[in-house]
Amino acid sequence: IDNERLIGFATLPEQVHRKSVKKGFDFTLMAIGESGLGKSTLINSLFLGDFYQTRKQPSVNEMLKRTTSIQKHVTEIEERGVKLRLTVVDTPGFGDAINNEDSWKTSVEYIDEQFQQYFHAESGLNRRHIQDSRIHCCLYFVPPYGHGLRPLDIEVLRNLQNRVNVIPIIAKSDTLTPTEVKKMKERVLEDLRKNQIQIYQFPECDEEEDEDFKRQDKELKASIPFAVASSETLIDVAGRKVRGRQYPWGIVEVENPSHSDFAKLRTMLIQSHMHDLKETTQDLHYENFRAKAIARISNGTSRERNKLKRDSSADSPQEMLQQKEAEIKRMQQMISKMEAKLKAAGQPKSMRDSVIDL
Ligand code: GDP
Repeated sequence: IDNERLIGFATLPEQVHRKSVKKGFDFTLMAIGESGLGKSTLINSLFLGDFYQTRKQPSVNEMLKRTTSIQKHVTEIEERGVKLRLTVVDTPGFGDAINNEDSWKTSVEYIDEQFQQYFHAESGLNRRHIQDSRIHCCLYFVPPYGHGLRPLDIEVLRNLQNRVNVIPIIAKSDTLTPTEVKKMKERVLEDLRKNQIQIYQFPECDEEEDEDFKRQDKELKASIPFAVASSETLIDVAGRKVRGRQYPWGIVEVENPSHSDFAKLRTMLIQSHMHDLKETTQDLHYENFRAKAIARISNGTSRERNKLKRDSSADSPQEMLQQKEAEIKRMQQMISKMEAKLKAAGQPKSMRDSVIDL
């Protein structure tokens, strides 16, 4: 091919790629569950860091009066020139003290606030440097010692399901036998089903993918809720240093797939599903929030319009009325566009309903 005659757009994908590599990737993860379930140990093991270096262990007195406060830990990881800016949002007091059954509300409010901020920034004038702090994934920690989900878990999950991609985790799975893990998983799934709680839906695997990928995808889907054991201690196992938990009767190797689902969770978060989690946050959860926010604004404006109409005998300016009309029309168009987009994306019916049913 004659080089002179090429316009040069063939390098576009490369440019986009280079640009995003330079900018880096952002990912925000939230961990919810009562303290002591191993949230920080898991996050540190997942990302091989120490997010919680500065964390002080609260005293008993502090624990008792502690309210839920949100903590944000940010770290930048670089691997082969690709930057990942990882933010972990932790809700330390959840379920700790007596009478703080409502403490999870802080987390739900936090998720909404990030949406609200983004919505505000997106409709503002300077849209080029939007700070995006929306939560892409919420790891929900279920204690290993119960019998499935507790009423509190159900209440919290019900409030999270339409706001964020929820991935349920059975914490400290090394305290259960393989049979108990299996039973616990079945119970959690059954409780989710009975209570019609939607967790993160893994996308369908492409038919064209190779067999290895298909098998991995199937295994991943079959492992939910992930039963995870984690540890920050390195142990010597036959000359290899592995993360593990040493017991008098043996070693639980964190990354060994026959010991825990830790490796599966990490693969899915970092390698296979990070992009989909971000896309679902944008296309499903954020659009849902946005549609409701627009409907609220448009309700407000139509009330104002009616008021103006009522007052029209007085000297209310005709121009103002026309402006409001145009604004409402624009918003209605935006809502129809969104509905069409959701339909095209083949969202589950329940989602379409919840958007239309504003
Ligand atoms: P957080 O309050 O939820 O962040 O919990 P931590 O990560 O601070 O862990 C609380 C305690 O549980 C610590 O003593 C950890 O060593 C221990 N722990 C963490 N993960 C596991 C696990 O997977 N299995 C077991 N048996 N213990 C764990």
